[in-house]
Amino acid sequence: MSRYFSQKFASLVPYTPGEQPKERRYIKLNTNESPFPPSPKAIEKAAEAARNLQLYSDPTATLLHRALGETYHLPETMFLATNGSDEILNFAFMAFCDETRPAVFPDITYGFYEVFAEINRIPYQKIPLKDDLSIDVGAMTGLRATVFLANPNAPTGLLLSLDDVETIVRSTDGVVVVDEAYIDFGGESAISLLGRYDNLLVTRTFSKSRSMAGARLGFGIADPTLIADLNAMKYATNPYNVNAMTMAAGIGCLCDEAYTLKNCETIIENRKLLSEELLSLGFSLTDSMANFVFAKHPRCSGSMLYEALREAGILVRHFNTPRIADYLRITVGSRTECEALIEALKTVIPSFSC
Ligand code: PMP
Repeated sequence: MSRYFSQKFASLVPYTPGEQPKERRYIKLNTNESPFPPSPKAIEKAAEAARNLQLYSDPTATLLHRALGETYHLPETMFLATNGSDEILNFAFMAFCDETRPAVFPDITYGFYEVFAEINRIPYQKIPLKDDLSIDVGAMTGLRATVFLANPNAPTGLLLSLDDVETIVRSTDGVVVVDEAYIDFGGESAISLLGRYDNLLVTRTFSKSRSMAGARLGFGIADPTLIADLNAMKYATNPYNVNAMTMAAGIGCLCDEAYTLKNCETIIENRKLLSEELLSLGFSLTDSMANFVFAKHPRCSGSMLYEALREAGILVRHFNTPRIADYLRITVGSRTECEALIEALKTVIPSFSC
């Protein structure tokens, strides 16, 4: 920290992203990326857009919002595209939280929520997950607050039913943000509730099911009044938040829904196979509905397994956090990647007498 660094941020603990290694080729199962390339249509559109990079991107993102509206059968005025869904989450913290409506989220969830609350100097409360690591719906109901719910939750992968989500949305005096980064892998989306609740913001990403993590594209869907508030944050920070190639790639991707659907089906199939193999190796797992599994082994600590897999050339994610330090979060990769992981574990586990 330099002596010029603002004292405002002296105690800020930034988010730690999963590694993107350069020095060695790993099987990367640590950041929940897709094992499949983007749709050829996304690549083609991005290449076309590259020819006009002398121009700023469209700050209104009209064509992308139109394509999103057609895909989700909603008016384009209900969408706001952002630089990854991280950006719309940050906008939601900025726009909807203050002393009168503090941020509320589970104690074990996407780590960026706490960072966004801290950097925006917003009061927040963390609601403990229940013993089975599920979200405590009762404790998140009837609050005067801005509630952030990842559904499925990360890193547990556990899904809340649409009824539970609706109970929270209906009873909250404030905006409820449902972060559906992983919803395409088997969950029921809260999009169907949008017509009934003007305090619901659903956030989505192109980083997982749509194979575009490197393009940085996310979006929010909400009542146009909430979208206007979020737009105020966007125009106050970065009007050209989505670059022209990414916007074009997003439109290309949305023209190819069959490709995304097929990839999601494959990941769901691979998740089932991987889970069965892990169970037969003695792991216990949460019932993940995401593109990752959350697993622990009775004889090996999470950190030891993480290190041993890393030695074997496989990266997974380990959180040194109370209650989940024994777990590994493992991205569901291609069939070959899942098989390589299982083979490595078969060698690694017997070597531990822990
Ligand atoms: N929400 C959750 C729950 C996530 O795990 C992630 C990915 N790290 C994000 C949002 C943000 O994803 P992106 O910014 O790539 O859209």
